[in-house]
Amino acid sequence: MNFHKYYPVDVINGPGTRCSLFVSGCEHACRGCYNQSTWRLDSGLPFTQAEEDRIIADLNDTRIKRRGLSLSGGDPLHPQNLSAVLQLVKRVVAECDGKDIWLWSGYRLDEMTDAQREVLAYVDVLVDGKFEQALKGADLIWRGSSNQTIHYLK
Ligand code: SF4
Repeated sequence: MNFHKYYPVDVINGPGTRCSLFVSGCEHACRGCYNQSTWRLDSGLPFTQAEEDRIIADLNDTRIKRRGLSLSGGDPLHPQNLSAVLQLVKRVVAECDGKDIWLWSGYRLDEMTDAQREVLAYVDVLVDGKFEQALKGADLIWRGSSNQTIHYLK
């Protein structure tokens, strides 16, 4: 998997102070996408073991109290991102006590594959659905357009 950005301290993408990872690769091609540079799977930088270790360390760093991890992109549930994302969310649940995981995906919950649901088993909150420009709303919280749904999975 590749990624575009990692913010160790982020107060915009999800509730509270968080770590946020924006991965590469998205096949949805939503009109009006604000993040087209992430569409290609080979864009950005390789997500290495060192990057994974850094996220775990940041979440456990008691000097800055972070509420959890946000995963966006691109699409963290792109089929080719699933193994790396699964490994990461498993580690967060196992090694980062009390941290939540939010995940944004263009796939809808009711159309997820078994492999995508395997990742969701570790996710607290899923924001799903493609971005629809006609349904864009400045007053929407955590969503870009009103067709997207916030699913509290746990
Ligand atoms: S799912 Fe997100 S990243 Fe992918 S095209 Fe749509 S808005 Fe862009």
